[in-house]
Amino acid sequence: MCRSCRALLSGRKWKSRSIGTLDPGSLSGKWGIYALAVDRRRGRADCVYSTMERLLKDSFGRAWRTAYCQNLRQLERVRRIGACDLLYLGRSGPKRKKGRDLLTRYTELTNGGHTGWQAVWGLVLSGWNLRFWWRECGNPKEDESRLIARFRSQHNGQLPALNCYVPGGRWRAR
Ligand SMILES: [Zn+2]
Repeated sequence: MCRSCRALLSGRKWKSRSIGTLDPGSLSGKWGIYALAVDRRRGRADCVYSTMERLLKDSFGRAWRTAYCQNLRQLERVRRIGACDLLYLGRSGPKRKKGRDLLTRYTELTNGGHTGWQAVWGLVLSGWNLRFWWRECGNPKEDESRLIARFRSQHNGQLPALNCYVPGGRWRAR
């Protein structure tokens, strides 16, 4: 991970596990901020996109056009992955979709319901190792804003790759 991103996630309160070994029970019921980062890459991000595009085309392409288009559109953000390994910053907590907790957001991110889950599946199916980081806190909204502002100041004003807006989409990534 680039040095500035490693610094963003430093501090005793941050915890992290590879998503392959994370026990969701360790996340239960708390509010906080979270991040998704790459532990190990396998191939280029644009190859992940083309592989998934082919897969979706073969499976949904004709039979279920809406699913094909919607999932592909969310996968677009994989193509924004550059040198930075920090892929996503987000929060759970008050006033965020009925105050969903860290466990819920993690489950949505890895199993559906989160705007980034297609990208997560695409990367994992392509052999990438991803790591989930989380920090419990009392004011996730404020902490998230601060974290994102710091990230942007260190990355030419850009958001993490999977936080991006979807061009032409009606979703706003969180
Ligand atoms: Zn970075």
